[in-house]
Amino acid sequence: MKSTKFVLTEKEMPTSWYNVLADLPEPLPPLLHPGTQEPTILPPPLFPAALNEQEFSQQRYIEIPEEVQDIYKMYRPTHLHRAYRLEKALGTPAKIFYKYEGTSAAGSHKLNTAVAQAYYNKKEGVKRLTTETGAGQWGSALALGCRLFDLECQVYMVKVSYYQKPYRRILMETWGANIVPSPSPDTNIGRTILSQNSDSPGSLGIAISEAVEDAFNRDDTKYSLGSVLNHVLLHQTIVGQEAKKQMERADAYPDIIVGCIGGGSNFAGVFLPFIPDKLKGKKIRIIAVEPEACPSVTRGPYTWDYGDVAGMAPIVKMYTLGHTFIPPKIHAGGLRYHGMAPIICHLHRLGLVEAKAVHQVPVFKSAVEFARAEGIVPAPEPAHAIKVVFDEALACKESGESKTILLALSGHGHFDLQAYDEYLTGKLEDYEYPKEMVEEALSHLPKVMAEMK
Ligand SMILES: *Cc1c(COP(=O)(O)O)cnc(C)c1O
Repeated sequence: MKSTKFVLTEKEMPTSWYNVLADLPEPLPPLLHPGTQEPTILPPPLFPAALNEQEFSQQRYIEIPEEVQDIYKMYRPTHLHRAYRLEKALGTPAKIFYKYEGTSAAGSHKLNTAVAQAYYNKKEGVKRLTTETGAGQWGSALALGCRLFDLECQVYMVKVSYYQKPYRRILMETWGANIVPSPSPDTNIGRTILSQNSDSPGSLGIAISEAVEDAFNRDDTKYSLGSVLNHVLLHQTIVGQEAKKQMERADAYPDIIVGCIGGGSNFAGVFLPFIPDKLKGKKIRIIAVEPEACPSVTRGPYTWDYGDVAGMAPIVKMYTLGHTFIPPKIHAGGLRYHGMAPIICHLHRLGLVEAKAVHQVPVFKSAVEFARAEGIVPAPEPAHAIKVVFDEALACKESGESKTILLALSGHGHFDLQAYDEYLTGKLEDYEYPKEMVEEALSHLPKVMAEMK
């Protein structure tokens, strides 16, 4: 009898996170202070010491605290699925597996780091965390993470989303978080923007600035980020370590691993634990998928840029479209960041990770076919990866090869049905690569002295 899902027991859940920094063939470039341009750590008023330590740790395995493991066990290990029905629908000899993170209460992988971050903050005496959210995926994960460790959670939610996408706001409020539409009258930056334009729709950049200002101004408060940083990617490696064990149980090993990249955390979580094998010569293609409307790795230069829109965060070496670039409003809100996790950029640079960009209409076409075969309605973000899985599976059909493909399915799309409706009624549109806007944004890169040899 053939199995369609590969299940680990709670006892088999990994007890450490995997830190790829221990295995990199070349070290990661440093973070630079936005003022002095000297190598720096994460700003201590914003991040607890334990997370700063993880950010730069060279230790290969970092133990997951028992309290965090206990909460992980509420929804982990997640299942690995074999997509027999999809393979049949595509008529491909490829074997398609997917690791599904949509079964966490927050609906995505983001809870894996939210829980860990809440724990370390709590342990260092922090009472309150702030963050920003666009459509609300990260905000809802952090709201739950904070609830589980009895921390207050303050979310600055981009004003247009606050009014247009109320369901995730209500979810966050149900878990006890305090949500304000950004720009808000509660911060200096918010008041300044409102005094210039009381109807400002807000932006992720403004919301970040508000969350950071709030955390800087209160001793009991720190700030929390849901992607990009090394410690966030680290926390997600529980996903890939589970997937690796489950693939073994399925008597399979991936020839190709595919995932979407916004800041890079869900995909890194899946593929990083396979990097040691790849460095030892194992042939695995690792394909990161991004939107054509915001293609940092496929089109951006590898250079120094601010991590945030306001230019207050450390300067990082990454593929970037420019920190002032505001991408078109594609439905995959989680894939609209101007840069990319330094770890992903570095691995791409070293030739270990490939990148592809895709348009949203074919993305939703694949997502609907996936939902009709496998039942799960994917979030728009991993739907980008599904499009590339289809391309690879169809290439196998042409060549007759039976490759094994592992898909990182980071979350469900139950709060994104508006986007599905637009696709199903023929209203969804593609956005061409906004070349002029990117060129404009790239003219505002910081001039980094270290590069001017
Ligand atoms: C936020 C989000 C992403 C994009 O962020 P990464 O850090 O690149 O993973 C992808 N998928 C889902 C479901 C998300 O919520």
